[in-house]
Amino acid sequence: MPLDPPSRRCASCGENDLPLKRCTGCNKAWYCSRECQKVDWVRHIFDCNPSRSITTADYLALAVRENLIPDHPQTCEDYGFARAIDSSQSPNLLGLYIGLLDPDRLGVKPLTLHRWRLEGTLVENIKREFERIPKASRGGYYPWFLQNQYLLDGTQTKQEWQEQFQSHMEEAFRRAWSFIGKPPDASGAEIHRWSKSLPQYLHHCFSFYVMLLMGQHPSVDTALWITLGFCACEWQEDEMELSLSYSNLIRCCTFDEFCDAYTSSSLVDLFQSKGVDLPKDPSDKINPVDPCIFDVLSGSPYRNKSVWRLKQYIEHKIVNGEDAEDDSIMHPTPSISADYGFHRCGSPEDRRLLFGLYKEFFKQKRGQVKPLQLHQACVQGRLFAYFTEDLQMRLKQKKVYKRLLVNPYPLPAPGPSNAVAGITLADKEEATAQVLKTLQWSQGVGRR
Ligand SMILES: [Zn+2]
Ligand SMILES: [Zn+2]
Repeated sequence: MPLDPPSRRCASCGENDLPLKRCTGCNKAWYCSRECQKVDWVRHIFDCNPSRSITTADYLALAVRENLIPDHPQTCEDYGFARAIDSSQSPNLLGLYIGLLDPDRLGVKPLTLHRWRLEGTLVENIKREFERIPKASRGGYYPWFLQNQYLLDGTQTKQEWQEQFQSHMEEAFRRAWSFIGKPPDASGAEIHRWSKSLPQYLHHCFSFYVMLLMGQHPSVDTALWITLGFCACEWQEDEMELSLSYSNLIRCCTFDEFCDAYTSSSLVDLFQSKGVDLPKDPSDKINPVDPCIFDVLSGSPYRNKSVWRLKQYIEHKIVNGEDAEDDSIMHPTPSISADYGFHRCGSPEDRRLLFGLYKEFFKQKRGQVKPLQLHQACVQGRLFAYFTEDLQMRLKQKKVYKRLLVNPYPLPAPGPSNAVAGITLADKEEATAQVLKTLQWSQGVGRR
């Protein structure tokens, strides 16, 4: 029996004016055109009665369509996500598969991908597909993949893979070592000793060179994510673009110049003096550099605004799929707590509401300067007003927010000697703790 017409829509585009045809597989879904049915198939295959069995490549294709890192365990196992050690690897891998499977890009079919994997030819076929197109159109994920293809070698045991990861890291250290002009015949132990003997902030720089030369950039849970400006990026693509700027820069300056600029908060000047462009908003006629990146790099590594730590805290939790209340891994640091109201939370419900507010804020991605505006509102003690007036948010829980969005600002002038508005001394201790994490990463200690 036909359904009530008004409730019937094309399952793909939502069209309800055209005559719709029913999917013959399940007799349940309706489509306005053959095209719409085809487009919807990566999703609908899970609800239909497909004539073949569903494979992990279908789960991957669904994840690609939804732009989400897959959570189906066997799919993660089959397509390399389970082997990701550093949290930047999964988003990069997803980016690679989007390029590969998206019908508007390489358009490889899930069934084909599945066959490659069974044949053990996944890596070589991915290379063949990407190398068919001109180098300039391959995007940033493919070069990254070339450095990280061991993630897809399904024939290895976990131990073999860990050994390979270790030697991969050692090689990466060696590459960075000779890149900065050190003698190429040094032993692995010698390089390791040297890098450990570096003062903290120079070690920052060396770790970053190692990452860049591996085609990677700092992940959200490292100190470098903030101090090198990745926190100022809105999208994964923006992080790739910033990474590319750095890759160009390190080819134009010496390691000493880079370290000097980093430790004296003058990386922007170094970029400019070497004629290397930093990302900017093309529609912005005034600023030669994205204002948020400019803000971060002009403060790094000692004086970064607490709004960037807030963003790190929120994004870290999102990336790791943690509950708003669960602070077992990453606490809101003293500066975030005091500046952004977490210290006012008396119950898990309070925490959930506050976390949700900031999560929404950073998710909206409504223009690069938003975090700086939030910071401004924070140091003026106007957080509640900012969220209720400036953003015109409809806050159901206004009363609760009014109680939570309170901080000690503006500080009476002159401020206490060890506190600059929104940047507290605690940040320095916290930075040290985070550098230790970066070191662990660069020594190849897995987090899984
Ligand atoms: Zn349609
Ligand atoms: Zn169907």
